[in-house]
Amino acid sequence: MVRVIKQNEKELYQCEECSFHYEDKKQAEKCQAWCKEHHSCNIEITASAIENKKGRGASYYDLLLK
Ligand SMILES: [Zn+2]
Repeated sequence: MVRVIKQNEKELYQCEECSFHYEDKKQAEKCQAWCKEHHSCNIEITASAIENKKGRGASYYDLLLK
């Protein structure tokens, strides 16, 4: 199961293996399945993680950390 984080009206999904956050639950589940199996990240998946998005996504993630 991916971890669900509620932030304001939105929900974010966190891969429990690599701790990246996604706005898309399916993407988070994909990431977690990959991380568990391979014990490493798939850059094609993590590219859509909030941590790896520029602009809005990055500032959104900053909010989470505060
Ligand atoms: Zn992951």
